[in-house]
Order: sequence, then C-alpha cells, then structure tokens
Amino acid sequence: MDENKFNERIQDLVEEAEDKPVRREKKEKPQLKESIYSLRLDELKDWLEANGEKAFRATQIYEWLYEKRVKSFEEMSNLSKSLRDKLTASFAVTTLSTIISQESKDGTIKFLFQLQDGYSIETVLMRHEYGNSICVTTQVGCRIGCTFCASTLGGLKRHLLAGEIVEQVVKVQQKLDEVGERVSHIVIMGIGEPFDNYDAMMNFLKVINHDKGLNIGARHITVSTSGIIPKIYQFADEQLQINFALSLHAPNQELRQKLMPIARAYKLDKLIEAIKYYTEKTGRRVSFEYGLFGGENDSVEHAEELSKLIKGIKCHVNLIPVNYVPERNYVRTPREKIFAFEKTLKKNGINVTIRREQGSDIDAACGQLRAKERAQETR
Ligand code: SAH
Repeated sequence: MDENKFNERIQDLVEEAEDKPVRREKKEKPQLKESIYSLRLDELKDWLEANGEKAFRATQIYEWLYEKRVKSFEEMSNLSKSLRDKLTASFAVTTLSTIISQESKDGTIKFLFQLQDGYSIETVLMRHEYGNSICVTTQVGCRIGCTFCASTLGGLKRHLLAGEIVEQVVKVQQKLDEVGERVSHIVIMGIGEPFDNYDAMMNFLKVINHDKGLNIGARHITVSTSGIIPKIYQFADEQLQINFALSLHAPNQELRQKLMPIARAYKLDKLIEAIKYYTEKTGRRVSFEYGLFGGENDSVEHAEELSKLIKGIKCHVNLIPVNYVPERNYVRTPREKIFAFEKTLKKNGINVTIRREQGSDIDAACGQLRAKERAQETR
C-alpha cells in the first residue's frame, strides 16, 4: 500500500473512532508507513507478484521477520537490492518505539510503546511456570465504557492495524532473545475490545499462528470479549482452536448493565445463547471472567445466581479480584469473601480459579500505565 493511501486509512480509522469528521488540513500529517507485519503470508505473496517479484520471496521475508527477527529490510541479505528498496518504499519494519519498559519484582515487564502517529499503547509480558505470556492491545483506548476499567477512560482514539498488534509480540520476543527465551502464550486482553476491531484481530491471529510466522499454537492463544454478540457468532463459525473468554462480571442483567453499559445493547439472555452456540459449534469450553467488585457482585447469593446462569455450559470461571483504578470507586473483596465465592461455585460443580495477581507494583492492570501517560501523548 502506498504511503498516501496508508495515511488516509489511518485517518479513516481515527474518524470512524471519533465518529465525526476530522479537519485534515489542520492536522499535521505524520510520516506513516504500513507495517510489514500487517501482511499475512498470502497477502505478501500477492504484493510481491503485483510488484514484479517472485511469490516465494514471501517465505524468505517471513523467515527474516519471524525467525531471525531482523530490524530492517537492509539486513535481508538474500533479497535483491531492488526488492529491498521496493519494500523500504512501501513498508516499515519498525513502527513502534519503546517509551517505557518497567520490570516488576516477579519478572512481569510492562511496555509502553509509541505508535507512528504519537499515540501510546501498552503490552505486558508475564512469566509463568508454563511459559512466557504476552498481553496485547488491540485499540488505542476503548469505547465499551466498563465502569471499572482504566482503558476506556479517554474513549477510543483509533483501532490498531494488524501489524501494530503483531509488532507488540515481535518487540517483546526481541527483548526475550537477549536472554534466550521465547514467547509461548498470547492473551488478547490488553487495551481495547478485540471484537470491535475484528478483522485486524483475525489477521493478527493468522500471522502469529502461522508456522512460517511466529508459530504460536492456537491453544496457546486466548481472546477475551466484553460480549459483542454478532461477533461471538462469527468467531464461533471460524472454528478455531483458540481459547475464548467472556468478561461476564455479573449474574443478572440489571447488575451487568450497571457495571458494563454494553449490556444494554447486548442483553444477558442473548449473550448466554451466543455462548452456548460457541461451545456447541466448536466443542470447546468458554472461560468466564468474573471481576469481584467489593459489595457489588461478590456475595454468596451472587455466586449461587451465577451458578444457575451458567449451569450446563462447558466452562471455567476465572475470578479476578478488582485491580484498583484511582479514577474508579471499586474496592477489593476481602480474602474470606473471595474464598466463599469460590467455594459456592465449586459446591455447584463449576470449575473455578482465582486469578493470581502479577505486576501490581508496576501498574500492570489494564490501561493504567497508558492512563498515566495519556496527558503527554503527542496528539
Ligand atoms: N475488552 C476485552 C478485553 C479486555 S480483557 C474484554 O472486555 O474482555 C481485560 C479483563 O480485565 C476483562 O475481563 C476486563 O473486564 C477486566 N478488567 C478491566 N478492568 C479491571 C479492573 N479494574 N479490575 C479487574 N478486572 C478488570
């Protein structure tokens, strides 16, 4: 894609997100280039053929990007100079720059990256016994408006392009290369609603899952949604082996719409129907994320109501003690109450775990680091 077209596309994404026309002439146009990581292997082959090159070069370029993880087209030494020049004219290998990387005592590293147009996004690397997991961001901000979440505080600025999501993983992998470690798991649980940026998210999945790409197994990838019903059906029909999580947070419609305004548009009964469709269509279980917000949704009665709601669904419940967000009023559920909630679900035959907290000393909760930095964003 040429540069002007790409600039226009970014501008369109911004306009769509802002839902109002942007006066283009008044905005300085940053020099933007399409990220090479946006291209699926088949798209790269098409681009090469359209530019008078052999399709097999795509595999070579993929090897440089995803196996050798070079940082420029110049380093792709088995490509002709003219091809390297063409690539350089059309694409960028690096579109994210690291503003902050903060390491926590438990090994969690939080990255704040700056995009070409000045916005900033967060990515988190978590160290587990089973491997290294990365939490990626899919949008600059979010328009879902959950009342407990820091990511949605400034609204949605724009969607990320597929390459901007892929590059978060590449950047963290490059950091891990220094210590000989590998990214083994991905969770799409950073800033943004992945199902509100569905096509870019799907392309991201295809690139990181491809055996010539980052080759991260589908079963090692988890996508989480706040519950955009039509996209849940679409995702079920893709028949992927990817793990699927729903941010449920409440056992009834009234409470859910109080916590998550999106529940007004997508009602709980219809949501549960969509979830059942997913589990039946894919044969896979769903993960319900349930944040425990002190005094709101964390009583034993709520646990009983939740058990009834999800009875018979092939599922697992992940209890998340609320992460404190300064702008929000929610308080933590005391430990004994968390255990009582867990026990009630277990008694009712439901698989349940309590999410272990990581990186709390470095603002690792969704959107917190970016929320602090937002004031300094260049636009
Ligand atoms: N938009 C997607 C992806 C975000 S995933 C979604 O809603 O699923 C991040 C998870 O953390 C979601 O379950 C979200 O509801 C939850 N979350 C956000 N803010 C939180 C907070 N302050 N405390 C606990 N969980 C929170």
